[in-house]
Amino acid sequence: MAKTKPAPVESETAIRVRALEAILIEKGLIDPKAIDALVDTYETKVGPRNGAKVVARAWFDPAYKQRLLADATSAIKELGFSGMQGEDMVVVENTDSVHNVIVCTLCSCYPWPTLGLPPVWYKSAPYRARTVSDPRGVLKEFGTILPEDVEVRVWDTTAELRYLVLPKRPAGSEALGEEALAALVTRDSMIGVTVL
Ligand code: FE
Repeated sequence: MAKTKPAPVESETAIRVRALEAILIEKGLIDPKAIDALVDTYETKVGPRNGAKVVARAWFDPAYKQRLLADATSAIKELGFSGMQGEDMVVVENTDSVHNVIVCTLCSCYPWPTLGLPPVWYKSAPYRARTVSDPRGVLKEFGTILPEDVEVRVWDTTAELRYLVLPKRPAGSEALGEEALAALVTRDSMIGVTVL
């Protein structure tokens, strides 16, 4: 989505962090480009690869998938991913009849241990509002057009509960091993704005 209007209300912590960042930049102690690169790394590279491993294991091992859907926090922890912003996880499975999308309507709650840092658009006011009022319209902006008979379920992430979408395993991936499967999984498919 192109629209990236910042959230209207900033928390006190966010304001403090920004003030601190401004001072450090002014004093020449940090390079804003380096910070951007670091954030990008956690947004798109390091973070979501953990979630991809969880998804690949679920596709590969039916018993693991059962555990994941029954108690996501524990099953994710089995693979070594746990901690802040991932204490209470729920995994929702995409099927031929149901497609799941996650959002945080209030702010930007997101499962850090499995997906890393939330992308800018996830935190934007339009995404937060429109995913609830017009989920198919938002999906379309991501190039995702689902058949009319597929039910779209929107899950509102909170500070207490964080969701991860288990995407449908791509057709033709039957012969692939776990590592190759993980390479197919994208961040956006685990947020539910795209399909694989
Ligand atoms: Fe939030």
